[in-house]
Amino acid sequence: MTLHLYNTLSRSVEPFRPLQPGRVSMYTCGPTVYNYAHIGNFRTFLFEDLLRRWLEASGYDVFHIMNLTDVDDRTIAAARAKGVTLRAHVDPFARAFEEDRDWLRIRPPHEQPRATEYIGSMIELIQGLLDKGVAYRGDDGSVYFAIARFPAYGRLSRLDRRELKAGASERVSTDEYAKEDARDFVLWKAAKEEDEAVGAAWDAPFGRGRPGWHIECSAMALELIRRRLGTDVLDIHAGGVDLIFPHHEDEIAQSCAYTGRTEFARVWLHGEFLNIRGEKMSKRFGNITTARDLRQDGVDPGAIRLLVFQAHYRQKLDLTDEGLASAAEGSRRLGEFRRRLFAARSGADAPEFMELAEKLDREVAEALDDDLNAPRAVAALFAFVAAGNAALDAGRAPGPGAIAAWERVDGVLSVASDIQAIKITSADAAGDGRHQDLTESPPSDPADGAQRGWATGWAARRKKAKADRDFAEADRIRERLKSAGWEVRDGRDGSVEVVRLAR
Ligand SMILES: [Zn+2]
Repeated sequence: MTLHLYNTLSRSVEPFRPLQPGRVSMYTCGPTVYNYAHIGNFRTFLFEDLLRRWLEASGYDVFHIMNLTDVDDRTIAAARAKGVTLRAHVDPFARAFEEDRDWLRIRPPHEQPRATEYIGSMIELIQGLLDKGVAYRGDDGSVYFAIARFPAYGRLSRLDRRELKAGASERVSTDEYAKEDARDFVLWKAAKEEDEAVGAAWDAPFGRGRPGWHIECSAMALELIRRRLGTDVLDIHAGGVDLIFPHHEDEIAQSCAYTGRTEFARVWLHGEFLNIRGEKMSKRFGNITTARDLRQDGVDPGAIRLLVFQAHYRQKLDLTDEGLASAAEGSRRLGEFRRRLFAARSGADAPEFMELAEKLDREVAEALDDDLNAPRAVAALFAFVAAGNAALDAGRAPGPGAIAAWERVDGVLSVASDIQAIKITSADAAGDGRHQDLTESPPSDPADGAQRGWATGWAARRKKAKADRDFAEADRIRERLKSAGWEVRDGRDGSVEVVRLAR
């Protein structure tokens, strides 16, 4: 079996064949940096990360572009509300996005164009559309795309052509609108005073203004693949399901009308939503969860990846406390197994491990080739861990084959917790922590040594409390450590281990 993907264009699972053998160009719509990206946005970015990693693991040379939307209705409104320039408002959120992305182990794209740095390409594209008569300048000074001049409009979102409203009196000038409002959409918005106030206006032959949101992705994608690959058709374009209409529909219309090609991207992939405890994430419900909220709560990034990959990307996913807790437990089991596997590695694989490694590779490839069936790949990984633990218990040694299979699969899913276990040595335990100056909360100094000293200090105090039969105090300390992301484990031989659950 080769890689098969569900193409939103055809509404079917198709064998994947890139334009140039061995090379894949992939454009994924990036965040609008008016605020912190929430966990629903990151669910989409995680599915795209899995796609990218699996393509690379399958031997493709991938060229991945992910933009940052740093000028649109929302960024301008947010900058105005704060009374700062657009640039001053978006820069910290752009940096925060990169931090969150790295924390979630999402591979950075090869190109991360910012819309404001590609205004020239956008002007060129819009001018081309005006020259072809597919776009027109409205009486409000803005430039619109005439959907009546592009017969394929509606193909991606399967809009009924009878419902399309074309013409000067039926236009939409906002970046976001619903399917019922399918009509001529804006390419270039004539500059308003509020745009000028935040520095979001540029000169163009068709009047001073700023780009509409949809034109941004078309211009950046076309510019970068032309420059890098000498083509104007993408192999893959991906995003969340909410982008199918109007964003991706409009991207296709603008790009194809401009290039004269029948396709802008050959395969369109869309990831489903993430709900929070059964509700759609929204300002109204006040349940918007960001990646940094989870990080501050001490959640392990491996646990978030595991939770996301336990659902297929085309299924809705509900984020619940129980789901997150069980993913954290699963991620930790994987992290512990990795430690055990690597500690036991030897020069040659025992036959059991040869077999297990072959099975893991085969099952994961079958699962991911089948439209990125991550839940099945994750199940294969857990089966490997269960059988691997049994083989280790029986004294069998893993060799290069088992280690390589683990690394290949872990390199694609990256769902194992990055736990650190610290055994309290007899030297640490010699003191009972009483003389150590221990704060109730962990030190603000993020240095490993400071955190470790704090955790081992409390663990030593807990050991003393137990020895004094003060079990209430021992339990209190256990809870204190737990809430700071550490777990105390008592060994049968009287040793104590403090394990860091999240970093
Ligand atoms: Zn886009």
